[in-house]
Amino acid sequence: MPQHFKIIRLILGDQLNIQHTWFNTLDPSVAYVLMEVKCESEYVTHHIQKVVAIFSAMRQFAAVLASHGHHVHYIKINDPQNQHDFCKNLEELKAQWQAHEIAYQQPDEYRLEAYFKRAFPDITPVDAQHFLTSKEEFKALFEGKKTYLMETFYRKMRVKHQVLVDSANQPIGGKWNFDQDNRKKVPKHHQFLTTELKGEDCSEVYEDILKAKIETIGNINPRQFHWTTTRTEAMELLEEFVDKALPLFGTLQDAMTENHWYLYHSRLSFALNVKLIHPLEVIRRVEQAYVEDPERYSLNQIEGFIRQILGWREYMRGIYWAKMPEFASLNYFGNKAALPSWFWTGNTKMNCLRHAIKQSLEHAYAHHIQRLMVTGNFALLLGVHPDHVDRWYLGIYIDAFEWVEITNTRGMSQFADGGIVGSKPYVSSAAYVQKMSNYCEGCSYNYQDKFGEKACPFNTLYWDFYVRNRPLLERNPRIGMMYKVWDKMGEAQQQKIREKAAFIKQHVETL
Ligand SMILES: Cc1cc2nc3c(=O)[nH]c(=O)nc-3n(C[C@H](O)[C@H](O)[C@H](O)COP(=O)(O)OP(=O)(O)OC[C@H]3O[C@@H](n4cnc5c(N)ncnc54)[C@H](O)[C@@H]3O)c2cc1C
Ligand code: SF4
Repeated sequence: MPQHFKIIRLILGDQLNIQHTWFNTLDPSVAYVLMEVKCESEYVTHHIQKVVAIFSAMRQFAAVLASHGHHVHYIKINDPQNQHDFCKNLEELKAQWQAHEIAYQQPDEYRLEAYFKRAFPDITPVDAQHFLTSKEEFKALFEGKKTYLMETFYRKMRVKHQVLVDSANQPIGGKWNFDQDNRKKVPKHHQFLTTELKGEDCSEVYEDILKAKIETIGNINPRQFHWTTTRTEAMELLEEFVDKALPLFGTLQDAMTENHWYLYHSRLSFALNVKLIHPLEVIRRVEQAYVEDPERYSLNQIEGFIRQILGWREYMRGIYWAKMPEFASLNYFGNKAALPSWFWTGNTKMNCLRHAIKQSLEHAYAHHIQRLMVTGNFALLLGVHPDHVDRWYLGIYIDAFEWVEITNTRGMSQFADGGIVGSKPYVSSAAYVQKMSNYCEGCSYNYQDKFGEKACPFNTLYWDFYVRNRPLLERNPRIGMMYKVWDKMGEAQQQKIREKAAFIKQHVETL
């Protein structure tokens, strides 16, 4: 007996939000459709763990929906009837089921929004019911302005959602920001309190991906897969984070170490970005920890964490929708260089880069400061074209979806937007890495030297960056000082720096 449904509702791989109002009622005339399509797995070369995590989360989400009594149709990557195109698959099902309506949720990516608008011009998508700020609110905030400060936005969000504010809408603790307490290095002999989650077996999904011949990067142990792919696991991870990591989150937020791959970070980004968990659930849980035990959870830990989700995450999404599609081609410095080939292997003698890249290949994860001040910093100093940098970040990280990847990479990290996201480029010499990590201790290069065979490449590339971009940066009030220092250096020293930087750029593959 052929099945008939009146309405087909599409669920994308990053729309696994069981709390969506779509699922509040059981309706036998509705079929929910999820599909694994090749084009989504191949528009950039993804980390194998990212593809496994998404397919695995989708399959388990479909099973949960079905267990609640909804009708679910799931098209796997190797199913013979899969046409690997959302629209073609949907049209075929529509004809087969004699359905008269297709519905979809607002996609998070510009590329997909444009695709669905073209494919279904008469359909208005429904809200994905995940973010705390609507696209329209953002457009209004950015209207007529070149920049809109994250800090201003964040304070508005604290008041709007009544997070860490008192009855007069003033910040609890008397300050909106406790960043100055949060820049500590990991103490020597520190015993980490965080533990590894027990891994799940994802061999079946992994085998399907191999069979489909999807090109991927990175490593995986399919029998011990440690990313959260269900809502239950995401809630467990949140509890684990609150219990073990939150008490030190803020203090060691910017620290880096060879001894631990996520330190006191939450690893919630994947679960958040595929919507297994809602940002307000995370924020309220963290706030509750503070209210119940302010001795253990000091305000700098709590505020530092909440700012990432209530502030940065929402803000980046706002920038994305306010500035796309132009944002994707911004290249303020006109950078042209290629990414060194060792970005794909980690085979470099530079310890910070070796560690951050090898860890990314191993876990599909690096924490924020590794992404910003190691790999991102080096790419910017080298003058790599932002398209190459974007492709690398979009592929390698478990949490990389364009709305949050490109704003962080092209905007915050590469300053290719000329100052929409940040007021100055995040660049540094070896001094920053040395201050915030133990990488320099085990490095073949010397963090204190500029010249000579063992000199850390960051040190001269740093000056070279400022010098070559002088016309674009000199008038920036947060940078002007750098040029005063440069001008005082003397011609001979300046020449030596230029020559050393040119040599490094020429021999970057051998660093
Ligand atoms: C060059 C670069 C590329 C990045 N690409 C991505 C990306 O593709 N996807 C992504 O989710 N994040 C990205 N980030 C932001 C941040 O590095 C990650 O969100 C974070 O490392 C994820 O790990 P976590 O869950 O342990 O984060 P935690 O440190 O525990 O932070 C908690 C949560 O805050 C949010 N958050 C923190 N910082 C940011 C930020 N700058 N922008 C948006 N949300 C933030 C995330 O949802 C994160 O899960 C990028 C940062 C940089 C510098
Ligand atoms: S010396 Fe330079 S290259 Fe080596 S770890 Fe330190 S900053 Fe990185």
